[in-house]
Formats: sequence, structure tokens, C-alpha cells
Amino acid sequence: MPNTPQTENQQLREQLALLIAQARRNEDIMRRHQKFDLTFISASSFRELIESIFDALSTPSELNVVTLALLDSTYEIRRILEDLSIDLTEFPNLLFVQDAAQLGTLDTLTKPELGPFDEKRNGHMFPSHVPTPGSVALVPLWRHYGLIGLLGLGSQDRTRFTLGMATDFLEHMASIVAICLENVINVERLKHLGLIDPLTGVNNRRYVELRLMEEVGRTRRRASALSCLYIDIDHFKQINDGYGHQCGDEVLREVAARVKAELRLSDTLGRFGGEEFVVLLPDTQLADACNVAERIRAGIADKPFFLTEKPRQVSASIGVATLHIADPAQTAESAGSQLVARADQALYQAKENGRNRVHAISQS
Ligand code: GH3
Ligand code: MG
Ligand code: MG
Repeated sequence: MPNTPQTENQQLREQLALLIAQARRNEDIMRRHQKFDLTFISASSFRELIESIFDALSTPSELNVVTLALLDSTYEIRRILEDLSIDLTEFPNLLFVQDAAQLGTLDTLTKPELGPFDEKRNGHMFPSHVPTPGSVALVPLWRHYGLIGLLGLGSQDRTRFTLGMATDFLEHMASIVAICLENVINVERLKHLGLIDPLTGVNNRRYVELRLMEEVGRTRRRASALSCLYIDIDHFKQINDGYGHQCGDEVLREVAARVKAELRLSDTLGRFGGEEFVVLLPDTQLADACNVAERIRAGIADKPFFLTEKPRQVSASIGVATLHIADPAQTAESAGSQLVARADQALYQAKENGRNRVHAISQS
């Protein structure tokens, strides 16, 4: 049938309606994308960003599962986050991989890969605790220096992600997420640096004070004991005067290392100032804390320090105090500072008793 002007008109109108609908959809998509961008960019900490990645991506796009694998070959990211008391068990879908090879064949992905779920190729991105997806999108996160991680998006719908689908949005999102991740990790690095003593590499006073409050809280909840050691190098002024300040610094580093060697991972060691160190021993009764202190004392005194060619003996005195189930009316801050003050009193007594010794103050 030949086209009459009327049918032509009708066809044009239909085409126009289609184009308008398409434009509206695109506008909608754009608006959603901009919302994603804004959510990610406004996250000011690692925790906030990770939460918004999991929330933003899974809610509106009806994904059944969102996972994020981060490359962390030296454990640096995990160590920093742990030191900053970020509990990674809160994010079961956040995975860490030691090296890109652990990503299998995915480590060479330069663009998002879409398709049906394949246990062999992308099973490691969807661990057993998440529902097995029907189709997946694996989105590599690149920064100029290399691959930093991989986002795994999974849907029950087998046709949600298919080969050949446009990936512009995913690529755009990946570049935003990668930059935001790099930024928040750097922010956490800086926070972490502010809690480290640059001379010895152990924690600083601020960190110990922060940890002290947390440990007091934990000790109360678990009805356990928290012990504190106050360590002070004996006659340190003589070392500085006799060998120079730089040798003094070397002794501080060596003492910090020797103390650390006697501690568990859950213990906290910090340089409190000058030649004084504080150790927090969670879940440790006074008698056990005295044993640790004695090991530390011997570890310093029994092996000479080589400041020049000639060996020199260095010793330290250690005060020990223990906090038992603290008075609930007392704030964690005041219970903590009282504990340190008592360890400091015990240290004073150790000095009075002749130095190079451990003195404990029993429960007040
Ligand atoms: P005591 O056995 O009673 O503890 O005697 P001491 O000489 O160790 O005690 P005192 O507190 O009089 O001396 C501490 C010295 O530590 C004085 C100070 O100059 C030195 N000091 C503090 N901070 C540093 C540092 O960062 N590096 C070096 N090399 N020395 C430091
Ligand atoms: Mg001192
Ligand atoms: Mg001293």
C-alpha cells in the first residue's frame, strides 16, 4: 500500500515519540550516573566509600551481589585499616588479593567483561557466602600505575549482563570509583602516619591513648584484665651526653625493636615521649604482665648495644599495673589514664629500687 501523507505523518509521530522516550531514558540514566558520581566523590573515608559502593550499586540497579577485590600485595592497606580500628569483617564482600595473579585471567582485563557466571573464570570474585549469580560484570579498576582492584557485579537474571552490551556507564563508574578509592586510601595513610612515631616507627602517644580507651571498653565488656607497662630507659641522658644525640636516637630505635619482639600482635606499643614507652596488654593479668615485662627488661639488658665499636650495656626500668573490671561509673578515659598513671608510679618505684628492674603495683 502506498504511503499516504497521513500514514507518513503517523509514522513520523511514532518515531518522534520513540526518540523522546529514548531521550527521557537517557536523561534518567545520566541523572542516576551523576548521583553515583556524587555519592562516591563525597565519601571522605575508606569506610564511607566502601559502604556507598555496596549500597549505591546494589540498591537501585537491583543487583543481587556487589563485591570489591582490592590488590594489597604488601598487606599495607589491611594493616593501616586495622591500626585505625576499621573492622573489615563488617564488609564480607570486600576481598583482598595479594597479587594480580590471584585474579586468574582477570588481571589483564582493560574493559568490563560481561556475561554468564563462570565458576572457573570469576568464581573467586563471588565467594561462597554470596548467592551464585546468573550473569556478571567484572569491572577492572585502573589507575595510571596499574590495576588497583576489581568490582564484581552479579545478577540472578541471566540476561542482565550479556556479551556485547554497552559498557560506557561501567567504564565511567570504574574510573570514578578507582580515583575515589585511591583518595580515601591516601587519606587513611595520612591518618595512620599521624599515629606513628617517626623516629622509632612504633605508635605514638596519641595512638596509645586512642587504643587505651578502646581496650578499657573491651576489658569491661569481656570482664577481663588489661595490663599496662611503663618503660623508661635508665640513665639515658648519659648515653646522649657520652655518645651524642644520634647514638641516643639509635638506642631508642633498638629498644623499641627489642620491646616489640617480646609482644603479641594484639598488644599495643607506643613511644610516649623522650625515652619512655608504654605497652598495653589486653586480656592479661598482673602476674602474666610481670612475666612479659621481665622478658622485655632482660631483652634490653642482657644483650649489649653497639653504639661504637665498643659494646655498651643499656637497661630499662618497667612499671606494671593492671585494670580489672573497671568501675562502670568511671569514664573509659579516666579509667585508662588512671591505669597509665599507676604504671608510671610503679616505674618510679622500680627506679627507686635501683633501676634495671620490674616493679608492679597490685590492684588499687
Ligand atoms: P633515669 O634513669 O632516671 O630515667 O635517667 P634518664 O637520664 O634516663 O632520665 P632523664 O629523664 O633525666 O633523661 C631523659 C633524656 O632523654 C633527656 C633528653 O634529652 C633525652 N631525649 C628525649 N627525647 C629524645 C630523643 O628523641 N632523642 C634522644 N637522643 N634523646 C632524647
Ligand atoms: Mg624519662
Ligand atoms: Mg630514663
